[in-house]
Amino acid sequence: MMKQSLASIDIDQILHNMISTNRWGTYFGVSQKVLDQVWDSLTSPDGNSVTYISMEIAADRDAFHPIKSRLLDLDITGSTDPQIDQFIKNILYGPEKIPNYGGGLGVLAGDTLKSFADCRIPVVGVSLLYRHGYFSQLVDSRIGQVSWSSEWRPEKNPSIYALHQPDDPRSELRIEVPFYDQDDRVTNAYARLWMKMEVNNRLNYFVPHILLDFHTDESPQWIRDAAKNLYDSSSENTKIIQRRMLGASVIPAMKALGITSRTIHLNEQHGVAVILNQIVDRLQQKYGEDYTQRTSDQDIFEAAEEVAGNIVYTIHTPVKAGHDCFDKNLYRKFVHSFHHRILNLLAEDRDNPNNFNFTLFAMRVNRTTNAVSRLHKEVTQKQFPEFAEKISAITNGVHHPTWISDAKAELFDSCAEFENWRQDPSVFTNGAALFDNKRFRAFLESAWKKDNFKLITYVNEMLATHRAMMQETWIDPPNFLSNLDDREARLQPDTFTIGFARRFSTYKRADLIFEDIEELLKPVLENNWPVNFVFAGKAHPADEPGKALIKMVIDVQEELYRKSNGLAKLVFIPGYDMAIAKIMVAGAHCWLNSPKRPLEASGTSGMKAALNGVPNVSIMDGWWGEGYHDGATGWKFGYEDPVNLDTLSENRAELLYAEDSASFYKLFAEIIDNFYNPEKFYTFIDKAIMNIALNSPRFNTHRMAAEYLARYNLDLPGPLAGKMERLKENYDSDSE
Ligand SMILES: *Cc1c(COP(=O)(O)O)cnc(C)c1O
Repeated sequence: MMKQSLASIDIDQILHNMISTNRWGTYFGVSQKVLDQVWDSLTSPDGNSVTYISMEIAADRDAFHPIKSRLLDLDITGSTDPQIDQFIKNILYGPEKIPNYGGGLGVLAGDTLKSFADCRIPVVGVSLLYRHGYFSQLVDSRIGQVSWSSEWRPEKNPSIYALHQPDDPRSELRIEVPFYDQDDRVTNAYARLWMKMEVNNRLNYFVPHILLDFHTDESPQWIRDAAKNLYDSSSENTKIIQRRMLGASVIPAMKALGITSRTIHLNEQHGVAVILNQIVDRLQQKYGEDYTQRTSDQDIFEAAEEVAGNIVYTIHTPVKAGHDCFDKNLYRKFVHSFHHRILNLLAEDRDNPNNFNFTLFAMRVNRTTNAVSRLHKEVTQKQFPEFAEKISAITNGVHHPTWISDAKAELFDSCAEFENWRQDPSVFTNGAALFDNKRFRAFLESAWKKDNFKLITYVNEMLATHRAMMQETWIDPPNFLSNLDDREARLQPDTFTIGFARRFSTYKRADLIFEDIEELLKPVLENNWPVNFVFAGKAHPADEPGKALIKMVIDVQEELYRKSNGLAKLVFIPGYDMAIAKIMVAGAHCWLNSPKRPLEASGTSGMKAALNGVPNVSIMDGWWGEGYHDGATGWKFGYEDPVNLDTLSENRAELLYAEDSASFYKLFAEIIDNFYNPEKFYTFIDKAIMNIALNSPRFNTHRMAAEYLARYNLDLPGPLAGKMERLKENYDSDSE
């Protein structure tokens, strides 16, 4: 009796410490003390914090949800306090997906904020809220990708809070953002402010993520339309408006919340309009009311130089489509003539005099630019030779507590060598000492089996669902296997499984390994070895060649199956998202990456696999140049000569299909032999352990955050600064 009532008091106390309030809202997950601490540091007069700007920030709750995990651990399903009870019910049973991201860039941003929260670094994230998200993907075997747009409701999502006016819960917090026309007449757009909290595992720190929602009654229709879909490319106008909605909102949003960050981090150049605003602010301060008349070009350059001192810029791709360029006259329809004048000085592109080039703008006005891998640094320096000096590398990472599977987490928790791995991924270096440990090897193999079983079960259930759907609707499911009866179609666990999931765009060459089916199937047929290929990924709805690749993958399924006498099964999982990624990267036996070198600046799904001990089989592109370790962690194939500007071509004829696929086939015979040959299988476990020992300490966002931090000029308390310094010692992205 006694014990029970004590426990219930404790629970009340715990829950009481999970609710907090400030002038803008009431939130669930962290204590009042934590909220106050975070808010104080973001609003302190010394500006000792960072505002991190990204077009998309992805952190779905079905991949990582520390608040729900805490409730489940404590077996809490309700509370006597009605307000807390409502929070609990919403978190336990409410929606967890936030379909507000497109892919790699957003997932990286979310992982980054989560690591800042783990490390207790004062950062606030800013992105847009898209009422229709990116897009939902259906795949029909006759048509290929079918994209549809569906509204999601932040109002219904327990992880997203509508901020209200200070001390006035009845009125929503809004900001006003001016757009101009050719005659400098203003039209205001209005955004509601929402907040999501990236709370860390211990619930003792969080990074707020502010979402700007322009789909408001007061905003003109053209603004509301542009606020619907992420990367809406239906017109150049829409693209311009979306970029401006993000960049031009940052300062008004910070002002509305009292955020004082001195340092601005641009995750890609999409939000670069914030720089424009900061330059104008300075000139206005200098010259007052009639600053537009009094400002000289020299003043503009000087103001830009001052602003640059606080800007950190990450460039994410060498691919042209990733660099925003807009026609000058078109752009004039949305910005003030004075802004246009500044851009004429700072966004000019000598090769395209009629365009503003926003990558060049971001390149010019910053303190430090980083590429996202060593190879990408080399490529970026070649693309932008006049800035080569200031371009360095900070190789991407992934948030390891998000991406390590439950089975592997359980394994790591049981090893003294990995104590505290969630906070300090450097401990994974101790994995090397377990290389010959029979018990560890056996546990690792068994965790891998569990993860593979989970993936195979997921696929089999999906095939069964599609089969039923086919009978009930007009939809022709994306998998040829759904046409077979359940027994024949079923994937078997412990069959060699290759995973591939990423955005479908030309340079990623999703269809590379199907270039010559006979060659691919040789080792399969010679030895009667079955193989599964599990694929997923979306193509941007306007990317016709990207969509054609999905269709190609679907179309090759039957041929592959028939020519292999049913041994080779290729499955496409539609609707790729973080939850699917998490199952795939841990459950595959090999993670395939087949881009054309050097167009994949980094890639992160391969890191997710590596942290689960899954070896990559990859082109020597992006992060793999650093993660390959002479074969200790996986395999390489394909072209790897030095890169130059000519190798950046995205023309089909120059995508090296014949060469790189031939290189893959040779390797595939060896890999599948290692897997099925009982004498050789141990090499898979060797590689799994070496991934944990060599790649896990490096390719995580804690280490990446520590490297960013060194560029931020933040003033941190001694012990914290020391801890980040130690995390950074795991790796120096920039050295050779
Ligand atoms: C990790 C991830 C990506 C990025 O993967 P790449 O290997 O960088 O292409 C894209 N989408 C989702 C849902 C992811 O989880």
